[in-house]
Amino acid sequence: TASLSLAEQGFEVNLVEKEQELGGNMRHIHYLLGGEDPRKELDDIIRKLDSHPNIKVWKNASIESIDGFVGNFTTKIKQNKKEIEVEHGVVIVASGAKEYAPTEYLYGSDDNIISQRELEKRLAEKKFDAKNVVMIQCVGSREEGHMYCSRVCCSIAVKNALKIKEVSPDTEVFVLYRDMRTYGFNEEYYRQARNEKVLFIRYDTDGKPEVTNDENIEVSVNEPLLGQRIVLQPDLLVLSSRIDPNTDNETIAKMLKIPLNQDGFFLEAHMKLRPVDFATEGVFLAGLAHSPKNLTETIAQGEAVAGRAATIISKKEMNLSAMISEVVDANCDGCAYCIDPCPYNALKLIEFMRN
Ligand code: SF4
Repeated sequence: TASLSLAEQGFEVNLVEKEQELGGNMRHIHYLLGGEDPRKELDDIIRKLDSHPNIKVWKNASIESIDGFVGNFTTKIKQNKKEIEVEHGVVIVASGAKEYAPTEYLYGSDDNIISQRELEKRLAEKKFDAKNVVMIQCVGSREEGHMYCSRVCCSIAVKNALKIKEVSPDTEVFVLYRDMRTYGFNEEYYRQARNEKVLFIRYDTDGKPEVTNDENIEVSVNEPLLGQRIVLQPDLLVLSSRIDPNTDNETIAKMLKIPLNQDGFFLEAHMKLRPVDFATEGVFLAGLAHSPKNLTETIAQGEAVAGRAATIISKKEMNLSAMISEVVDANCDGCAYCIDPCPYNALKLIEFMRN
């Protein structure tokens, strides 16, 4: 969204994609809660990106280095063993995130223990035939090591549960949840799912569901209203697994000298006052690289970034800060603590022997 918006304003954009194809996680979204078709929209955006005269798309490429400062960056892009140097005024980090492959609840041991993304694919490809489905929420999220909420999995569970009821109204769907966080207007779809007899059973962390798979898949969980442990025998178990930050975030963070939060997502300059900026001027942030978020929020953030980036690249000249630091040799003890934080990469440690 940001690239297209900037290109349409007349700016030149270099879009570096590490995959073979554009689209990222959106390629795995087949339908939306409101019934819209995101695939059509995505194909349309990709076609525009690929053919826009102001956009150069580097697919299957990686960033080797980024040097410089606001208005004057130089980036080395590697593509098919070729290295290309590009000069540009701003950087937009939109490196995405990925679905966690669970180690919990016997995921991977059976074709019928799958993730929400895999369920969505089965439904879209009309390969769904289960009569009893159990979904487990918060798989890998909101617990030691990953305390954050992945924000989209409750809405995705409701979306897929409604889709199941649409294609197979007799299929029973149980959703085992800790809190249903179908925030905003998505709450309406949660209500709709309950009206369509999707059963929601609450669990807490000391009574997490247990899964066995001897002859059949069995899920046992405490039913708080009955005050008893119940056993469900689904023919399909669906795990709402967390969103993980990409592992290459650290490399990008080091190159651009920008911070990551404790969970490994990029950290904006100020949550309310500068939500798409980094503290480093001329570097902006969009999409799942920032935090788990839904498609509408991601598009809004992309548009915000395009607006912020345009405020810099539309200028013919820029006034830089008049402050220039300089090392006072007599005071320097060679600790090198100033090298990493320097946003301009201006400092080098030169080691020498004193006579
Ligand atoms: Fe758990 Fe729902 Fe948050 Fe996902 S969105 S982590 S399922 S509470």
